[in-house]
Amino acid sequence: MVERLRFDRTTPRKHLPETALLLVGGMWYSPESLVVVAAFVLLAPEETLHPRDAGVAARIAACESPSPSLPDSIQLPDGLESIVRQSLEHSPRFRQQCRELARSKRLRAKVRLNYYPAPGSTARALTTFRQTELGSLVAQIEIRRVLDLTELLAHELEHVLEQVEGVDLDALSEDGEARRLPGGAFETARAVQAGHRVAAEVVDNTPDRVRSASASVWRTIRRAVR
Ligand SMILES: [Zn+2]
Repeated sequence: MVERLRFDRTTPRKHLPETALLLVGGMWYSPESLVVVAAFVLLAPEETLHPRDAGVAARIAACESPSPSLPDSIQLPDGLESIVRQSLEHSPRFRQQCRELARSKRLRAKVRLNYYPAPGSTARALTTFRQTELGSLVAQIEIRRVLDLTELLAHELEHVLEQVEGVDLDALSEDGEARRLPGGAFETARAVQAGHRVAAEVVDNTPDRVRSASASVWRTIRRAVR
């Protein structure tokens, strides 16, 4: 039996299970491969936006520009823009996510890196959602294993899209496409697949010289946070 989280307009909910299983391609995997998404509120589906809306159109275009970027509704930590840009350049699936996210007028997302998660935590990333009184959907994305940034960011952004679309996670659970985790969070096959797909496309399409440059950027970032 699935317990439904109650909607709470003022208090963000955050659940981080200690142990859980993860559905990948019909098989449940062990906790060490876990990525969780936490604190779901049930939101109404995003209204359909007309593509001629100038602001939306500009954000969508940014996903496909020669120097692509995620929409400005998604705030990245300093130093990650170039890595995200390379992922957009090399992954058609990531650009698709970018375009879909760009269509949402009510989304506000912030990504942060956490190198020091709580002891005992097995989650590599999580996202906490809340809805403001004015109807904005606020997503706090926490990446805890930065070396898997490409996969984890795509994974969590797919969870954001689920919320933007108003996906019924309980119904998905009944269909075997999602699983409620101890502590209240959900994992979905859709997010797992999105993360793996984007990561694979980036690896397949990134020239060796760019890969080498990315490694250099990572060394710089890791030094910067220590
Ligand atoms: Zn997830």
